Amino acid sequence: MDEKLKLMVDTVIRLASGIRVKPEAEEALNEREWEVVKRVAEEVRAEKRGLLYCGICGKGSFTRRGFYLHLVRAHKEEIANLITKHLLR
Ligand SMILES: [Zn+2]
Repeated sequence: MDEKLKLMVDTVIRLASGIRVKPEAEEALNEREWEVVKRVAEEVRAEKRGLLYCGICGKGSFTRRGFYLHLVRAHKEEIANLITKHLLR
């Protein structure tokens, strides 16, 4: 995974779980990449009755921190694939 893609995966995971995005992402990502990152962040999270669930595997409910860790441990590859797919469109 190249550095830019890694940063995008990290940013998706942070946005999806509501954790502060790294400052370097603000500078490194262009407008189109932000658009993709935001879209994928929406795709990987699901909310039911105010609770946070995984949009990829359906597990949950999670706290923000728990969801962050779940995405990091279980779904980095899928998230990278979703980003790549959207970027190629
Ligand atoms: Zn999951």
